Amino acid sequence: GIDPSHNQPMGSWSNEQIGASVKENVMLTWAPSKMKNNLPIITHGEGVYLWDSNGKKYLDWTSQAVCTNGGHTVSENIKSAVAEQLDRTPFVYGGMAMCEVRARLSNIISSVLPEGLTGCAFPSSGSEANEAAITMARRYTGKTKIINWYRSYHGGTTNSLEATGDFRRWYIQPPPGFVKAHNPNPYFFEFAGATEEEKTEMSLLMLEEQILYEGADHVACIMLESIPGAAGVLTLPEGYMQGVRALCDKYGILLHLDEVMVGFGRTGNMWGFQHYDGVVPDIVTSAKGLSSSITPISMVAVSDKMMEFFEENPMGWGSTFQAHPVAMAAAYANIKEMLSNDVIGHVQEMAPIFEAHMKECASSHPSIKQYRAAGLFGALDIVSPDGTQPHHFNAPRTEATAAYAKAFNEVGLIGLFRPPVIHIAPPLIINEAEIKEGFEKQHQALDVLDKALGY
Ligand code: PMP
Repeated sequence: GIDPSHNQPMGSWSNEQIGASVKENVMLTWAPSKMKNNLPIITHGEGVYLWDSNGKKYLDWTSQAVCTNGGHTVSENIKSAVAEQLDRTPFVYGGMAMCEVRARLSNIISSVLPEGLTGCAFPSSGSEANEAAITMARRYTGKTKIINWYRSYHGGTTNSLEATGDFRRWYIQPPPGFVKAHNPNPYFFEFAGATEEEKTEMSLLMLEEQILYEGADHVACIMLESIPGAAGVLTLPEGYMQGVRALCDKYGILLHLDEVMVGFGRTGNMWGFQHYDGVVPDIVTSAKGLSSSITPISMVAVSDKMMEFFEENPMGWGSTFQAHPVAMAAAYANIKEMLSNDVIGHVQEMAPIFEAHMKECASSHPSIKQYRAAGLFGALDIVSPDGTQPHHFNAPRTEATAAYAKAFNEVGLIGLFRPPVIHIAPPLIINEAEIKEGFEKQHQALDVLDKALGY
């Protein structure tokens, strides 16, 4: 029997008790809820590892949802920063009162952004940050249309989900004003036979054509991920983002770069857009790595000009928990620690080692067509035995991919898998030996996939 007592200390419920309550009372959101019954029950973590209630150890191979950038051990500094804020006061409503941690966090973020970007707001999730940014772009420009890529992920709330290319096909009544552009990697991840320069040129010509047909006077913003992450780490052809910036300038359109996944060091730079020389967006959103996901917090930063506008005009978006002091305390301590430990320098050091392993996965397994990597942000593309590569969203979850997913956990990895893309994005603090260990396990799981696909 299940003992419904809630007086027992955390950690004392048996697997059966936890499982029974999960079955009865818990709901999943992105997947059919019954899938919850197959998920491991995680008891604790340390460094890049997690343990489940059967004592099984997993290497966190995609930093959960590419967000536990600092791993699973919380430093004494971060713990005491959170405890200190709890002691002062857990909460003041951000529209009613200021506090020191908010001033400090805004200041440190402005100091790591390129000049001309400031004015931080702090919602609680990446989706909300994008929701706020969409509203800001519309209010600032007085225009409505937002251009996004098909292969993208911007969030699960009304507008951020419609900005997302992928799941919008599920919408029953989509909100208006979103225009979809093709990525410069539209299908099979390339324009067949085109050089980098040709891919860039063709993509930009198509984008300009779209702007003209939509009417530049109606387009508020081009909103893109600096490197599309959930869509498969779609690194961009040379010169593309500079071209988008130039189109925005030419037509009086804002450029919003979504750094929710890549911000705070994931790709070996503080910001993903720093891979594109000279590109400074008008709006930046981020989340995940901001607090290493110790607390739920996101950010929106804007250009000086937009900041001036919002000094006089309300943004028209808000939530009770935005600028939550405890969430900000963890983020502030996390950023300071990232900087003092030179986490970005470490990612740069690990990047070539990581990439060499990625390359080996692609070359030694017939089920893998190719890899992409930037810093500690990588993806492998599964290819079907008939040589075709399915579209991202309609890739069949076949017996082969199910066998792979099972093997992946059995060998001791836990991570995101969205066929045909295998994501690899370990915590940024991972060391060389742990990277090697992860890829040894990855090879074992890929052996199962090769076999299951009949190679
Ligand atoms: N933008 C990007 C680029 C993301 O990767 C995500 C989450 N995967 C989001 C926005 C949404 O963030 P959240 O899940 O925190 O709402």
